[in-house]
Amino acid sequence: MYYDEPSAFDFDAVVLDTFDDFVILDKTLFFPEGGGQPADTGSLRLKEENKTLKVQDVQEVEGVILHKIENGSGISKGSVVSGHVDAERRIAHTRHHSATHIVVCAARNVLGSHVWQAGAQKGEKRARIDITHFKRISDAERKEIELLANRMVMEDKEIQARFEDRE
Ligand SMILES: [Zn+2]
Repeated sequence: MYYDEPSAFDFDAVVLDTFDDFVILDKTLFFPEGGGQPADTGSLRLKEENKTLKVQDVQEVEGVILHKIENGSGISKGSVVSGHVDAERRIAHTRHHSATHIVVCAARNVLGSHVWQAGAQKGEKRARIDITHFKRISDAERKEIELLANRMVMEDKEIQARFEDRE
């Protein structure tokens, strides 16, 4: 559901299976770690037992989303849960994700279209972007990239997220 409802943070789901500290749900808003973006955290509340479990990590393995529960799950198949995603953390990740796209765009404008994103790490407090370029960038170039990137932010453009063709 996280692709269809990127700004929703609360949902109901049914436990399909559990193993070790992991819980698999029939649907989820928890974004797994991927593309340099850390996993969401949050909680699962067991509706019948009035018990809340902490989701400390989320991983995708072969299309299956695994929710890692702090101190083991102790949760049974078929349980109905209310999921809550830590919104502040997710919004910080979203902002940093958008910021890395903006910085790459600005760098391409300043340095040339050979510039590509070589890697990225987004966090809650900061993000890092690695770009390809044939030499060290100068202070003047860095300032120009910064100026362009800040201008794009100030324009407050609407963000459209979509899957691009690989080519
Ligand atoms: Zn992206």
